[in-house]
Amino acid sequence: MATIDTEALDLILSTLDEYAERELPLATLLSIDRDDVFPTKVLHDLYDPEQIGLHLLFLPEEYGGLGGGANEVYRVSEALARVDLGVATGVLATFLGTDPIKVGGTPEQKAKWMGRIAEEGLLVAYGATEPQAGSDLSALRTTATPRPANGQPEGYVLNGQKQWISNGGVAKLYTILANAPGGPSWFVVEAGTKGLTAGKPEDKHGIRASNTASLYLENVIVPRESLVGGVEGQGLAQAQAVFGYTRLMVAAFGLGGGWAALERAIRYGQQRAQGGSLLADKQGYTHKLLVPHACRLEAARAYIEWTAARLDAGEPGLATEGAIAKYTASEAGNAAAEAAIQALGGNGYTREYMVEKIKRDVRITTIYEGTSEILEWTMARYRWQFHLKTRGQHFLDAAARARDLHGRDPACGADAAAIALTALARVMERCRLDRLTHNQHVLFRLGELVAWAETAQVFAERASTPRPHVRGIDADALRAMARVYARQAAHKVVFDGAQWAVGAGQTDPAFFEGLPVGAAIAAQAGLVEDMNLVAQRLRDVFPG
Ligand SMILES: Cc1cc2nc3c(=O)[nH]c(=O)nc-3n(C[C@H](O)[C@H](O)[C@H](O)COP(=O)(O)OP(=O)(O)OC[C@H]3O[C@@H](n4cnc5c(N)ncnc54)[C@H](O)[C@@H]3O)c2cc1C
Repeated sequence: MATIDTEALDLILSTLDEYAERELPLATLLSIDRDDVFPTKVLHDLYDPEQIGLHLLFLPEEYGGLGGGANEVYRVSEALARVDLGVATGVLATFLGTDPIKVGGTPEQKAKWMGRIAEEGLLVAYGATEPQAGSDLSALRTTATPRPANGQPEGYVLNGQKQWISNGGVAKLYTILANAPGGPSWFVVEAGTKGLTAGKPEDKHGIRASNTASLYLENVIVPRESLVGGVEGQGLAQAQAVFGYTRLMVAAFGLGGGWAALERAIRYGQQRAQGGSLLADKQGYTHKLLVPHACRLEAARAYIEWTAARLDAGEPGLATEGAIAKYTASEAGNAAAEAAIQALGGNGYTREYMVEKIKRDVRITTIYEGTSEILEWTMARYRWQFHLKTRGQHFLDAAARARDLHGRDPACGADAAAIALTALARVMERCRLDRLTHNQHVLFRLGELVAWAETAQVFAERASTPRPHVRGIDADALRAMARVYARQAAHKVVFDGAQWAVGAGQTDPAFFEGLPVGAAIAAQAGLVEDMNLVAQRLRDVFPG
């Protein structure tokens, strides 16, 4: 997979920052949110190669793009989300909408459509969801009926309705998923095609700078060349093929939104005094509202970066890793934004201070591109298969690797990560023996525990091999964060895992003895001291 050089990426990021500072000050962002207007000019500027040309980053070089890889997608998505998640969603939609062509298009289709998207800066929309087909896309009802001419199919007639389509009312190009006789297939449809209309923009809770609309397809005639890949029935596989990528993008939105809120809270605590001292000096404030969220967000970043590096090294798929990244980052982003409102007290509850808007905006990240519950299911199912195939060794092996790492580097949280991984293996095995995953809730909770344990492991690994941090957090602070997070993961996997296994009726009287309960408790030693260190470093990086 191609990537662009660091200088080019830095240039894009700094141009984006300058643009946001100039064109999207706080008052403008708040008024776009309040008035619920689609910022046409902003999207135009972002896509204008003379200004930023953001869409070029996602397009391959041979079609006029810059050929950015997953790492660049993550960095730019995080930066966009820090500015405004609604604007970021408009860009995401173009990226998503282009994906079926990028993954499954014929060489001619790629050259034609990606060439035009690059050159004309077309806004694209991705039309998968329908009123009856949300999380379950197989319930798709939109049809693509072959349209014969002289006995040969020369095109298709599309009929149906799409719902919740980002850029739905403003796009110039649509990729539409429809049921052809050979199965679900993607079709490229240009705006203005007879029979294609959009509903009025949805009145949304957040990301109000993005346009979301229903699409109506009434006898929309498209030529045969608009069938992506030229073969029917590839649609769901093509959608699946890019989940690693697209979920990473939404993960970066959770990260960017969460940090945008948390940064405001960290600064605020250094300006506001109550009870005779600054809020930032009070553990009851920092260790509840700031530190755990910073650690969770940085754990998510570590997992995003690790997944991006694997995608950029050419590993295909990585849908489960994409799911873990998105789940962890979007849940962390939501929790951080919620805590930021609390951290600002009454001010946090008003629009002017922005954290209230960020909280509404970041809320979408646990819904689109796979809801958190669907991701819990994905993570549980795929890792459950690993557990079965390896006869219970998968997470035990991971725990052994974490213990090795702890041997080489005792201060990166790998010991606590090993406890989490060991507990996960034991809980999974108990669930297998007692057939507990027949309870959907138990299966989904295992998905959540997979995310905690794996993220703790990856965070420990990345904290152990320091590299320049994108937000300037130093190596010592990052290691303290990894330790805080891994302790939380160990505690969570042991006690939540036990709760659900016992709650679902596990039958082994010696179950607790097999769980690392004592180790998970002992691993908490030093927790408050580490949180003190993190609290101090957050003040240094984000002064008041
Ligand atoms: C602002 C916005 C923008 C969007 N943009 C796009 C876009 O550009 N293109 C596009 O195609 N779609 C888009 N979507 C659609 C989005 O992907 C869907 O909303 C999402 O996949 C969930 O589908 P749904 O809304 O039908 O909810 P449902 O699938 O009905 O889910 C409702 C609830 O039930 C849970 N649930 C669902 N199935 C199960 C199950 N089997 N077991 C347990 N729990 C379950 C879900 O987790 C959720 O909590 C957008 C949505 C929004 C709100």
